[in-house]
Amino acid sequence: MTFEPVFSSARPILVAGPCSAETEAQVLATARALQQSGVNLFRAGIWKPRTRPGAFEGIGTPSLKWLQRVRQETGLAVTTEAANAQHVEECLAHGIDVLWIGARTTANPFSVQEIADALRGVDIPVLVKNPINPDLKLWLGAFERLHSAGIRRMAAVHRGFSSYGDSAYRNAPRWQIAIDLMQTFPNLEILCDISHICGRRDTLAETAQMAYDLNYDGLMVEVHPSPDEAWSDAAQQITPAQFQQMTRALVRRSLTADDPDFLASIENYRCAIDEIDEEIIALIARRMELVRDIGLIKKEKNVAVLQPERFRALREALLARGQKNELSHEFITLLLEAIHQESIRQQECLINAPTALQNQAPEER
Ligand code: PEP
Ligand code: MN
Repeated sequence: MTFEPVFSSARPILVAGPCSAETEAQVLATARALQQSGVNLFRAGIWKPRTRPGAFEGIGTPSLKWLQRVRQETGLAVTTEAANAQHVEECLAHGIDVLWIGARTTANPFSVQEIADALRGVDIPVLVKNPINPDLKLWLGAFERLHSAGIRRMAAVHRGFSSYGDSAYRNAPRWQIAIDLMQTFPNLEILCDISHICGRRDTLAETAQMAYDLNYDGLMVEVHPSPDEAWSDAAQQITPAQFQQMTRALVRRSLTADDPDFLASIENYRCAIDEIDEEIIALIARRMELVRDIGLIKKEKNVAVLQPERFRALREALLARGQKNELSHEFITLLLEAIHQESIRQQECLINAPTALQNQAPEER
């Protein structure tokens, strides 16, 4: 797939505006207040996908006119979420500059196809949010459907992934998925929707800085004149003044520096890291040899592969050790799960697969 840029201005790109268009006054007040904040694109939800019925579901078509006024009065380009063909038609009829596909829509290939079909022959930029579930292929699939319909100006919006249970985030960022997208399509622009990742105000700045440090092209941020009174997503919205303060304080770093001392010392560190990585793999391979030895005696005594008590104890011990060494709980959990899964796989192969001897041709025995 080939993409053309949605944004032509210098980085960082800033997309900002309220979660929902609530009243004409609220939309215009936000846009006017954002005018001097370096915002490239003004956002506001017209149709809101709510998790449960009864919540504010957006004003709908009548509020598209308010976005037209934003453009007339401030010169800002405007964007809103389109979730079906009818939304697309309404947006095109009202001259909306850019469409975005929401996370719940990206997760549904029927809806994405419906939108792609409605856009056939139309040249409008589209921002594609990640699907709510951590599935890179589904995200790619949405780009492919739009691409097949002739859309070339597309950008990705990373807004995090749903998970069950308590978490520091409303939607876990799972940064690696976005990094994998960047590696697959180095020319595809990518923004970080810190508002839906964080779900709260106090962690927006650090998450935005993380996105800048991972070379995102910019941010999408929910901004409201009186956030606590917002009709949707109140806890994560900030005032235009807070937005300006936050974005000014963020540090934008360049991808590299051509200073020879810098390049030489980074090279030294990388050599040392490569050696350690080699040792890690060799150590894990040695660990797996022991795992297979245990597998053999388990097989002999007909003992189960999974030993829950042992795993629990191991997990606790490693989490404590991790904490002492300033390694995060999340990292130790993922690392141990990966090692444990591989150990189980190796023992399973050994216990259930036909033995190597049985596999050999008679003349090789
Ligand atoms: C939004 O941007 O207001 C929104 C509904 O986002 P998402 O699709 O990421 O939940
Ligand atoms: Mn929102």
